[in-house]
Amino acid sequence: MRILLIEDEPKIAGFIQKGLGENGHSVTTAYDGNTGLSMAMEDVHDLAIVDLMLPGINGLEVCRAMRAAQVDTPVLMLTALGSTDNKVEGLNAGADDYLVKPFHFRELVARAEALLRRAKKAGKSTKTKSFAGIVVNEDLRTVTRDGNEIPLTAREYNLLCYFMVNAGRVVSRAQIASAVWGYEFDPSSNVVDVYVNYLRNKLEKGGKPRLLMTVTGFGYLLKEATNP
Ligand code: CA
Repeated sequence: MRILLIEDEPKIAGFIQKGLGENGHSVTTAYDGNTGLSMAMEDVHDLAIVDLMLPGINGLEVCRAMRAAQVDTPVLMLTALGSTDNKVEGLNAGADDYLVKPFHFRELVARAEALLRRAKKAGKSTKTKSFAGIVVNEDLRTVTRDGNEIPLTAREYNLLCYFMVNAGRVVSRAQIASAVWGYEFDPSSNVVDVYVNYLRNKLEKGGKPRLLMTVTGFGYLLKEATNP
């Protein structure tokens, strides 16, 4: 598993890195809050172990910024401060668990592995959505249909994600416009229809059956193809 460690004390960082490495994990270490946060944003990790007191921005701020940016890597917060208020503050900032220093290494491993298991169960380690042979990998922002990669523009990708979330349900042009374009729908505009057609052309490449159906007078519906 890929673990991001944000810890400014080299001794503790070294000890955690070595120990987790011996347990078969790959650990990347940052020694201050800002570097740690940019690493958390740029790369996909299965777990982040974040110290509370850090140079630059502190562990709580790192955690809040990650959550605000929709980075949902599980966070295990480390701190020398063990009061209930500190724990609550950490959990409120978006941490998933809390470990008070000094700790036994065995406890760190047990908690880290529990978070990894939980995240894996929730499908968090690689976020994917799938429907009718289409798989959207949200970590890599890639889309495949029956295993073949479909290159999409950002707008087409967002449009497809919206249909995937609403698979099997009719959505109106106005709902699509506000979710994907973020503005009030102008009924005289055909932008939604234009993009649905772009998306259809890509999804149906190679003669694949249509999944994005037109619901006349209302909008669109993503559904399983009936008898190709
Ligand atoms: Ca520290």
